[in-house]
Amino acid sequence: MKCIICYSDMKFYFTKIFNIYDLKEVHYWICPHCGFCASKTHFEMTDIEWTNLNNSFHNKSHNSEENPYNRNQRYFKQAQMLHLMTKHKLIDKNNWLDWGCGVGAVSLLLKKMFSIKLMTYDKYFTPKINLIDVRAMTARSFDLVVNTAVFEHVRDRDTLNEIESYVNASGCFAIHTLIPEAIPKNPEWMYLLPVHCAFHTNKSMQILMDSWGYNCSVYNEESKLWILFRKKSSVIKPKVEKINKSLGWNYLHFKDGFMDYWK
Ligand SMILES: [Zn+2]
Repeated sequence: MKCIICYSDMKFYFTKIFNIYDLKEVHYWICPHCGFCASKTHFEMTDIEWTNLNNSFHNKSHNSEENPYNRNQRYFKQAQMLHLMTKHKLIDKNNWLDWGCGVGAVSLLLKKMFSIKLMTYDKYFTPKINLIDVRAMTARSFDLVVNTAVFEHVRDRDTLNEIESYVNASGCFAIHTLIPEAIPKNPEWMYLLPVHCAFHTNKSMQILMDSWGYNCSVYNEESKLWILFRKKSSVIKPKVEKINKSLGWNYLHFKDGFMDYWK
């Protein structure tokens, strides 16, 4: 099995027994080069098996997947972060897309609280707000593409490339997933949900940034959101420092390259 990030040969890492939703033994493989970890079991499912698993999981446990209080707080903090960064001209606000938006929670908050328009798209859900006409989803046409809790569900590189392909030549890419330095070799790791199949690392994210042409990034711990910038550090860093200085604390953590916050 080849790594979908750096194309090295992956090797067996560990097995977890689920015994739920037709999932029995799940085999996780790891890339020795970039640390990206994937479920070989999930990657080899047919599209029908994959869809059935997602449907059973979401029907049974959509609201218990995570504490709704924490999740709603995070959506608000993500909306607030995007608003703040727009006010400080770190993100242009003409044309925004939330790819894999679910019901469109971030878009709703951006509209209600900050009067900012975030268009929504989801293959599996019907968003409640700002649903985009798919004919308007043309390559390199958005100032900002957001995806929250998407990367850990993506089984192939083409999908990652497609999501990124909507970001325009000077645009930003916002990502919420869990990105540690290394994936723990532990079947009890809390992120191993039945529908999570791809686990990214600081190094694998740096490789993606390089291959897609992003220069620098920021991370905000409260919203658990990374923003990747095509623009150079010399443009972005002074603006980040200005926000942090006016708040009096490191609201945004900046790095030339991928912001490896969790080490
Ligand atoms: Zn790799």
